[in-house]
Amino acid sequence: MKPKAGNSEYDAVIVGARCAGAATGMLLASAGLRVLVFDKAAYGTDTLSTHALMRPAVLLLQRWGLVDKLEHAGTPRIEKTTFRYAEDRGAEEVSVDIKPRHGVDALYAPRRTALDRILVNAARGAGAEVRHGMQMMDLLRSADGTVSGVRVRDQGGEIRDIRARIVIGADGRRSGVARLAGSTPYVVGQHMTTCAYGYFRDLPIDGNRWYYRPGMGAGVIPTNDRQTLLFASVSHDFARGSAAERASAFHRVIREAAPDIADRAANERLVGKLYFFAGMRAFIRQPWGDGWALVGDAGYMTDPITAHGITNALRDAELLSRAIIDGTGLAEYQTARDDLSLAFFEVSDRVASLDWDIPTVQQYHRMMSHEMGREEEALVATGNASATAA
Ligand SMILES: Cc1cc2nc3c(=O)[nH]c(=O)nc-3n(C[C@H](O)[C@H](O)[C@H](O)COP(=O)(O)OP(=O)(O)OC[C@H]3O[C@@H](n4cnc5c(N)ncnc54)[C@H](O)[C@@H]3O)c2cc1C
Repeated sequence: MKPKAGNSEYDAVIVGARCAGAATGMLLASAGLRVLVFDKAAYGTDTLSTHALMRPAVLLLQRWGLVDKLEHAGTPRIEKTTFRYAEDRGAEEVSVDIKPRHGVDALYAPRRTALDRILVNAARGAGAEVRHGMQMMDLLRSADGTVSGVRVRDQGGEIRDIRARIVIGADGRRSGVARLAGSTPYVVGQHMTTCAYGYFRDLPIDGNRWYYRPGMGAGVIPTNDRQTLLFASVSHDFARGSAAERASAFHRVIREAAPDIADRAANERLVGKLYFFAGMRAFIRQPWGDGWALVGDAGYMTDPITAHGITNALRDAELLSRAIIDGTGLAEYQTARDDLSLAFFEVSDRVASLDWDIPTVQQYHRMMSHEMGREEEALVATGNASATAA
């Protein structure tokens, strides 16, 4: 796409200014496109997340010069990942050190108040216009049905139309852009987990710890402000019952799946409250049509149990931006996205069933690791291609 917008006010308007939208805005604006990114939420607000970034996400943040900013925001380096697999007969622990590769020598699990802010600042720094408190109400279409812009309600309550050559929905798993554009999922998960998590203080932990026990999962993830996030996943318990019942289910899962930290996950160490996610079936949606595209959860959502959504969002921001900037087209974006997503999606869905024995979930983890390796190599290749083009 050429930087000039003809009759449009913008080359690209992006609905949603978190990891997918802000990253896409930054990349398109860096290439000289006129970009508006907006969000109905306020700048720097929190959102549901257990924060863990996988290696491909850190690779991109490193390329974009943002890892230092994450560290300056107090995000701890994570240099080791431990998997604890337990069943009635006993437990097994497998620890993996994060090996330096492609400029990545640590993982991170930033609070979204830090990560999303850093990405928004980077989008602004690259020349994108970013607005908060602005809500998309509808899509605009030209006479032939092509999406040509958005109708918005701005912070002052005024309704107005904004024209753009492409409207990008980065508006999350319940995407209004997807619904209005008529995008439907063509792959849907069979399973889903419900999840509870909270932030705990004084829980010194050496790296990420992931816990798997038939019927449940849990995780311990060091994040900003010297706090550690604990999450528990099961099929139903966090989707029903009173808050007290769900809190008690959280502690039961932590005791059963993660007994080594259960005594330190006492209520007096909890900062704030527990958060609950009632679950949603994962999906892969048609990510583009005439005048529109989807990025991040709007187009592709995986179950939180495999902690890959932010990594997907940053990856797809890179793939979509490259397709727009290089002019390879949105079908190419879809092909690249699906090539890196379909196998991972399938395994993630099987993990989300929580219906496995330990050897089986270990095999799922090997398969996911293989897919993440492919993802990393594909992103290294996009970096090499941009460097050659420059
Ligand atoms: C409980 C839970 C735990 C998770 N844990 C992890 C994890 O450990 N690691 C990981 O990688 N991923 C995790 N995820 C997934 C991750 O949070 C998502 O994949 C990620 O947030 C997707 O980013 P996004 O930018 O696509 O969408 P979102 O973060 O959902 O942002 C969408 C934005 O669009 C805005 N918006 C929506 N509609 C409109 C509108 N009409 N007008 C204007 N703005 C609009 C919203 O206000 C929102 O700010 C988890 C998810 C959940 C629910």
